[in-house]
Amino acid sequence: MKTIPALPPVAVDWLESGRWVHAASGAICVYCGFGGGPQVKFEEWLHLRSGHVIPKALGGGFRQISRAVSARFSELPLRDRRALAIELARSNRVTACGWCEYVGDRLAVSPDLGTLIRNAPGDVEAVKAAVLDAIESTKGRRADQTRSIREAVRREFERSVQRQLERTRTS
Ligand SMILES: [Zn+2]
Repeated sequence: MKTIPALPPVAVDWLESGRWVHAASGAICVYCGFGGGPQVKFEEWLHLRSGHVIPKALGGGFRQISRAVSARFSELPLRDRRALAIELARSNRVTACGWCEYVGDRLAVSPDLGTLIRNAPGDVEAVKAAVLDAIESTKGRRADQTRSIREAVRREFERSVQRQLERTRTS
């Protein structure tokens, strides 16, 4: 019988951290398409993260969403609040490449998700719709921003960075 060698905990953590997010996306960056194509390549997969569309700094983390859901729907049973928080938090998670995550997290323009959950009018379904709408529009803005900045960075790379780095390698 073939045995699978045990992975060190850090490798297990890495595998688990993106597993369900990448399972949903096929491990393709939701903003720029990095990692796409019929074949999943190891080196590309290695550079993909499971990111937050609305960053944690804007209330997009699971704990922050849980707190906001509990405050907004304190009358709901705990298991319903938990299910809602999990659903909203999952909707906010996507596969992103390092570039799109780095730039997008720093420039993301979105409402604070905690404030939105606490203040959105209506019932659970209405709040859910408002949150999903905010996530979708933030996703679109992040894709636009990362694309245009990427082109500016590419021009600078071709103008000076590439040559400079290649000189370093050959000196
Ligand atoms: Zn990307």
